[in-house]
Amino acid sequence: MLTFFGRGSAFCEEQNSAYFLSDADMILLDCPMSAFQRIKTMDLRNVSRIYVLVTHTHGDHISGIGMLIDYEYFVGNVPVTIVAPSEPVRRDLEYYIKNLEGIRDEWFEMTDVNTLSANWLKTVVPTTHSPELGGKCFGYVLRIEGKTVVYTGDTNTLDPFIPYLQKDSILYTEVSSQKSPIHLSAESARETIKDLENQGVTVFLMHLDDEEKIVKTMNRTQSRPAPLMPAQQDGDLVEDSAMKEVLDISEQLYKEMCSGKKNDHIMLFLYLTELGKVLVGADRASFWKWDKRRKKLWTTSAIGVEKIEIPDDTGLVGKAIKQKKVLVTNDPYNDPDFNPEVDKKTGYLTRHVMVLPVADVNGEAIGAYQLINKIGSQNGFDEKEDIRKLSLAALICGIALESETFLEEAYHDKLTKLKNRMGFYSDFARVYSEYMSPECDKPMSMFICDIDKFKNVNDTYGHNAGDDVLSFMAGILQSSCSAKDMAYRWGGEEFIMIMRDTALAECAQKAEVIRNAVMHTDFPADGKILHCTVSFGCRQFDPKMSIEDNISEADKHLYEAKEGGRNQVRY
Ligand code: GH3
Ligand code: MG
Ligand code: MG
Repeated sequence: MLTFFGRGSAFCEEQNSAYFLSDADMILLDCPMSAFQRIKTMDLRNVSRIYVLVTHTHGDHISGIGMLIDYEYFVGNVPVTIVAPSEPVRRDLEYYIKNLEGIRDEWFEMTDVNTLSANWLKTVVPTTHSPELGGKCFGYVLRIEGKTVVYTGDTNTLDPFIPYLQKDSILYTEVSSQKSPIHLSAESARETIKDLENQGVTVFLMHLDDEEKIVKTMNRTQSRPAPLMPAQQDGDLVEDSAMKEVLDISEQLYKEMCSGKKNDHIMLFLYLTELGKVLVGADRASFWKWDKRRKKLWTTSAIGVEKIEIPDDTGLVGKAIKQKKVLVTNDPYNDPDFNPEVDKKTGYLTRHVMVLPVADVNGEAIGAYQLINKIGSQNGFDEKEDIRKLSLAALICGIALESETFLEEAYHDKLTKLKNRMGFYSDFARVYSEYMSPECDKPMSMFICDIDKFKNVNDTYGHNAGDDVLSFMAGILQSSCSAKDMAYRWGGEEFIMIMRDTALAECAQKAEVIRNAVMHTDFPADGKILHCTVSFGCRQFDPKMSIEDNISEADKHLYEAKEGGRNQVRY
């Protein structure tokens, strides 16, 4: 039977129009712009001609005809025949299509009903609608799947259609929630519809200006709203362009996550900010993480600026997080909480800001999602609609920030603040593995070091003093790192340092400098000053050996240093 592109009225998003297929013919009942938009998404490979049956020339019924002709002529390549029910309608349509739309004769065919011979068309029925279109409004009697189908178009009466309706006929009739002289109101049609149903006519309702109200009015009849074209076609979502972009981004992210590459959360944040931008049409987006321990907010994903760090009680982001409230300001320069520093630095002009606080699974605020400048909008962000659109991305953002926090904590040693053994293995997979491939011609070295007779510190001065010494030692190692170096707490009072682009001799030299410095350093420990020495085992990584074997070679040299009397560097 008929499938409706839309069953709304003039002021709805989807106006009234429908189609059916008969062999290789596709027959449209009117063609408003909303129908044209849907037709473009359809697979018409088995269609050899499109017919448009015009009921009348109101724009909400024929506004897509010109586009359809253009589109099929240039892109779709299915010929289009416009069926004008009478001479005056044909003249009006020709005027509109040729003069106003500027379409050439050869791009389409126009026929009147009498000369059209099609087994799906039985007759055309003049009806009454707007007085201005007197004599130019029609319904159609069709033959579809062996049944008589009556399509009223816009009408203020069912009378002219009654003679065509018998048992097993199908009626698609307009009904309006309003009483007016140009539309058939649901209330006035109800009894006639009940009578028709008693005779075996099936009734579908269309041109629904208030569906809920109409369905209520008709609830004592069998009639129901005409069936809409499903939102899904062949299992695929009918995508509008934003949906397509959203799906593209999530597909890329999904692939990236499953690629086997060692990614980090920054990658995740970048995709999620892209997603946020598309969802609300923002120009910029960024993630802020709340580092509660250091009382700081930081972002690494603000595009166009480097990592920014701010105190956690400043700016709109700080306020949104503290108050656990979405903040929207579409006049930031008059908002005392807006911080214009970044604009000053980058020359960017912030016009709209929206900040959504995001929480972890426990409901604790963990950061914020910030969107800047709604593209092409004077009014800026809409607190209600834009939150709704962003909600899923914000949720994922919260979970991503939480997992990043967990990982950061798992990779760091609480006492010394250095990365721990787990952090080392994570860095190894992401950063150092490159140096372990046979093709790599850059050297990488390491040392492992161990505080000499550290047990004595604990035994003599207590555990707290021992802890202080470990922290201080970590500080010395950390401050000895160049940009290519990284220090880790390997366990107990043992540390390692990895030095990229560094050969063995340079590594041993560095160890020697540190050894010497430690020897002359005053260690503050639980209110006292202590002195320590450290032993070192150095090694240049051999890519042919496993990481563990390389470290155990360095460990052997450390053992030699201990055996040799401690406070020395061996390699
Ligand atoms: P060597 O010169 O042979 O390395 O002697 P050492 O005493 O340093 O070595 P040993 O392995 O016998 O002792 C290491 C001590 O380090 C034992 C352990 O209690 C202590 N230790 C390990 N982790 C910590 C820590 O986090 N805090 C404190 N205070 N002590 C720790
Ligand atoms: Mg020791
Ligand atoms: Mg030890």
